[in-house]
Amino acid sequence: MPRDFKWQPHDGERHAIPRTLVPNAVGRSLCDIELTAGSDVWPPHARWWPTCQICDRAWRDAEGILPWPRQGSSTKVNSTGRTISSAATELVLQL
Ligand SMILES: [Zn+2]
Repeated sequence: MPRDFKWQPHDGERHAIPRTLVPNAVGRSLCDIELTAGSDVWPPHARWWPTCQICDRAWRDAEGILPWPRQGSSTKVNSTGRTISSAATELVLQL
């Protein structure tokens, strides 16, 4: 299924922008920031920028993906005594 959006580092966060926005074109992110699209190859430091929560929510709505973190997800303790989230486990299994 073709994706409608791609992620773009901008001003310290990763925002979702229309996939059709080519580098150097001006458009709007899902959180309604005007930005100039950059290269699809991100600068190394931008890989660690946090995801914009507004874009993330709008992107999940558009893609039909459940919100994150999951509402009402249960936590359990594994054999090492670490608490693990069933939602996190679910995400790993989807990858
Ligand atoms: Zn955003």
